[in-house]
Amino acid sequence: MISKYITTPIYYVNGSPHIGHAHTTIMGDILKRFSLMRGVPTYYSTGTDEHGQKIQQVIEQSGLPADQFLAAQAKEFKDLFDRCNVAYDLFMRTTDTEHMTLVQGVLQDLYDRGMIEKKEYTGLYCVGCEQFKTTAELDELGRCKDHLTEPQKQTETNYFFGLEQHREWLVNWLKSSDDLIQPESYRREILGMLKEPLEDLCISRPKSRVWHGIELPFDTNYVSYVWFDALFNYVSNVRRGDAADFDFWWSNATHLMAKDIIKTHIIYWPIMLRAAGFEPPKHYRIHGYWVAEGGQKMSKSLGNVVDPNDVIDTFGVDALRYYLTKNMGGSDAHISKGLIEATYNTDLANNIGNLHSRVLKFVFKRCDGKTPEPAEIAEPDRELQNYVAKTLDNIVNTVDLITLPDTMKTFLQIADRLNTHYNDAEPWKMVKDESQQNRFLSVCYVMLDCLQMFFRALHPIIPEAAEKALVSIGIKTPSLEPVAVSFSPDTLEPGTPLGTIENLFPRID
Ligand SMILES: [Zn+2]
Repeated sequence: MISKYITTPIYYVNGSPHIGHAHTTIMGDILKRFSLMRGVPTYYSTGTDEHGQKIQQVIEQSGLPADQFLAAQAKEFKDLFDRCNVAYDLFMRTTDTEHMTLVQGVLQDLYDRGMIEKKEYTGLYCVGCEQFKTTAELDELGRCKDHLTEPQKQTETNYFFGLEQHREWLVNWLKSSDDLIQPESYRREILGMLKEPLEDLCISRPKSRVWHGIELPFDTNYVSYVWFDALFNYVSNVRRGDAADFDFWWSNATHLMAKDIIKTHIIYWPIMLRAAGFEPPKHYRIHGYWVAEGGQKMSKSLGNVVDPNDVIDTFGVDALRYYLTKNMGGSDAHISKGLIEATYNTDLANNIGNLHSRVLKFVFKRCDGKTPEPAEIAEPDRELQNYVAKTLDNIVNTVDLITLPDTMKTFLQIADRLNTHYNDAEPWKMVKDESQQNRFLSVCYVMLDCLQMFFRALHPIIPEAAEKALVSIGIKTPSLEPVAVSFSPDTLEPGTPLGTIENLFPRID
């Protein structure tokens, strides 16, 4: 049986959730909802990464007991995702017992099979990254490129996991499918990195330095390094609770992520899986970064940070979801409250919202608050229905993370075409002309029929507004069950009472 398992990265809880966290998590939700509309059972996980040195530092600064501090941090992420209408199936935390037990089991198994080795290592260590850096990873001044601080020379005895013996397999696997990594440029980037031998991966931290982590089962003086701990969430999520059908979900796993973590996910992760006896994931979908309007990096000092909670307070959750979906595929994209407001007014208030309100109000008034029953559907109206049904079917069946901006353009084209059709038909004139009664009913029926298809297909993107729109047409909201949806003309039952007509997107001035 076909299935789909979608994951976001788990988010590091050393700070509050930002627009990037909201974006990836909303995209996962949208892909999950479309997958369910294709009738595919879909499991969607997100969560928080709660171990490691940086988190240990913020726990110590907070003065709170670790579990209390972490629970509060995780809740901040969970609350934001709930406000974003994200229908995740699991919000995992790396401090969950089920997860820690699995990671320890995997580590013990790799150790028993001689794949983990203890040795001394001297290198340049960046505290911010919690990583030893190679000189190639430093800038001209010898600083960490991410933190712009000079790493410290450090010698440590640690446990290492060998990668090089898997390199040839990894290269072949990466070349095996064009659908594995999108956008394609990231596969080329990774294949470029794989031209050089892979150094052993340090998988531990001495407790003398990092006490906050999963203890190595074979040496209690050490904890597991954060990547090994974090990446195995993708496995532990579907080996516990009501999702414990590992093979079913893992057979079609899609990892969503921003471009900064592709090396760990596309080099280390498949190798860890292979060593531990698991299949690699099926898909990687990678998006860019949100930058401020004008192209600068968002920063508190520049005052250009866009806070997702603030956007929801000002414009509503659907405006946030819509803006993020419309503007980012695989590349970087700009964001500001001004840009969101402009998009809201142009696309949502003036186009989609206005289309809904004028058609529904008119039909409600002129057709006794019910879906009209035309004697026959006129040819131009039938053409419109066929176009809408076919286009929406195509959207639902081909939707993918990196092509979402194109999908949104198509939705807007449909809205434009519906607006034009309605304007050209002028049903407000037909209603006064006895000889035009059949066409009048045909136009009214077809506009409602097209709108119900349109809002059912838009539901994964803007669930709140789509639900209101469907209520006004007397249609039930799509369920979060795997029920295949297909779009075809005349599914709307004549005589169905219309519901409350709410203004979906009041204009903001
Ligand atoms: Zn760094």
